[in-house]
Amino acid sequence: MARRKIVLFGEPILREKAKRVRNFDKELKILVQDMLETMRQADGIGLAAPQIGIPLRVTVIEVPEEDPIVLVNPEVVEQQGQRQCSEGCLSYPGYRGVTNRSELVRVKALDVNGEKLRIKADGLLAQALEHEIDHLNGILYTDVLIDKNKIYRTDMLPEDGQPES
Ligand SMILES: [Zn+2]
Repeated sequence: MARRKIVLFGEPILREKAKRVRNFDKELKILVQDMLETMRQADGIGLAAPQIGIPLRVTVIEVPEEDPIVLVNPEVVEQQGQRQCSEGCLSYPGYRGVTNRSELVRVKALDVNGEKLRIKADGLLAQALEHEIDHLNGILYTDVLIDKNKIYRTDMLPEDGQPES
């Protein structure tokens, strides 16, 4: 496994729509392992392939106390309710904002072997799913802030214990 470099806000790849994965080969498995390692090293709870410069629809998510989830070609199929979340991004370290996210999210995707999977989530996992799938569509959390002009430096905030993705 190898840790990859995380690209930062301002890099054009973060604004592109990522391409669907067609080959469930060894290369994909290596990419997923590298993404998991990169996410963990950065203390994140999610990472999308464009964040390491790879324009493919692949994301990994690992929220505390849960097994890691690998999603290939994921699609949000249902969103219910609305709630406000404190949110940050590994591609914009040191900042957080308050976003509008769904209370409940249903996602369909493929796993690293190309098998179908479905996830129903609320709470932090729902937030991470929306955040990561947004990345695959070139959308960043700063696009879904409650107040477009308000982001905060985390060193100016009391520790809220919320991880970045
Ligand atoms: Zn992010």
